[in-house]
Amino acid sequence: MTGLSVPRELLERYAIAAPRYTSYPTAVDWNGAVGAAHWGDALRAAAGRNSAPLALYVHVPFCEALCLYCGCNVHITRNTSRGPEYIRILERELRTAAEAGLGARTLTQHHWGGGTPTWLPPELLERLFRAVTGVFRHEAGAEIAIEVDPRVTTPEQLALLGRLGFNRLSLGVQDFDPVVQEAVHREQSFELTRDIIAESRARGFRSVNIDLIYGLPHQTRAGFASTVQQTLTLAPDRVALFHYAHVPWLKKHQRAVDQSSVPGMEEKFAIFADAVAAFTSAGYVYIGLDHFARPDDEMSLARAAGTLQRNFMGYSTRAGAELLPLGVSAIGEMDGSYFQNEGELFTWQRRVEESGNGILRGHRLSEDDKLRRAIIMELMCRGALDFEQWSRQLGESFTAKFATELAELPALAQDGLIELDARGLRVTQLGQAFLRNVAVVFDACWRRRAEAPQRAFSRTL
Ligand code: SF4
Repeated sequence: MTGLSVPRELLERYAIAAPRYTSYPTAVDWNGAVGAAHWGDALRAAAGRNSAPLALYVHVPFCEALCLYCGCNVHITRNTSRGPEYIRILERELRTAAEAGLGARTLTQHHWGGGTPTWLPPELLERLFRAVTGVFRHEAGAEIAIEVDPRVTTPEQLALLGRLGFNRLSLGVQDFDPVVQEAVHREQSFELTRDIIAESRARGFRSVNIDLIYGLPHQTRAGFASTVQQTLTLAPDRVALFHYAHVPWLKKHQRAVDQSSVPGMEEKFAIFADAVAAFTSAGYVYIGLDHFARPDDEMSLARAAGTLQRNFMGYSTRAGAELLPLGVSAIGEMDGSYFQNEGELFTWQRRVEESGNGILRGHRLSEDDKLRRAIIMELMCRGALDFEQWSRQLGESFTAKFATELAELPALAQDGLIELDARGLRVTQLGQAFLRNVAVVFDACWRRRAEAPQRAFSRTL
């Protein structure tokens, strides 16, 4: 996409606030029809489907210092005495799942995120892993992934994680430019990142992901191109290139991000387009939205085979798995409903101690939700819709059922985001950068929101 000239007017038209579609409906549109009182029944019902794979997400909220751009649920502390208490509560959540019989399901995807899971010392990492494997078996070839912060991760921790069976590592970089790093309070040298990757590969991790962010203060096309080139020398298996989600009304610390030094809309798009061109010319497959993977990576193979999925952890190669959420603010899906744990650390802890679960709220998926979710996920994962195939699946005309939505598509086609004919639509490469704008057409919740969507979601550009 380098050199691609996109008129400012088009960028302005598509720079909207929209969900990232790790679920549909997104959490702000949940109906609250299920909650803590339904968790036990959902677990028991899910336990009965013991041939279906299960995914597990564990949230570890602790970090030593706050990065200004952070959008995660974090608890900043250097007081490591908090760790054993946190693990004890996670063990209680696990016991609830075990008592419901969920241990009959095998894990296909097991992910620790945060926060910084490697904030935990080795003995607690091991205790937590043993607590999980005391309840669940892993399927052969299961994806066992952890997010690490190179600034606090030690070779001893990586050796332990490799021994335990972790095989995927994801690390945050955002930008290698020291000026940008200083502006966002995350100073992390290229050498430190390089050494952690080398160490993790030596310890048996078969896949490494690097997160980058564009739209941060002091970023320029030249500066970020250099970050991309440095990233390529590390040969990550996957790269996530996120647009900085500036939501200071939700994350108050982001008010300290100097907006006057953030690149303007046209430069931001150029930074992104240059990065897409650099990764694809280096042989990476553009998976969609903000993800790239080497051609032999499972994610590229799943994209080509049409089996790529998207869940609360982002793009996934593991199809249709229910997701057990553990830890403060963790979010999951069980027995046809979404559930989320309480987001305030001490309240979550109290809830788990009192009732065995920390669920705060949820959403029971209606038939319309499931249909729209399938359409949106097809756009996000395969970048295409075959209207005839959908009509066959629905037993009625797709174009008649979604006539209102389809009436919006010619404008997207005219702007070059999609190719459209009577049989279906295909997202173009330009449209991949605006995938959320295409998906939002089928999002009934987004369309009827009384509150302006810009207060609920980050902007696409
Ligand atoms: S290390 Fe990650 S989770 Fe922790 S504050 Fe920084 S961005 Fe947030």
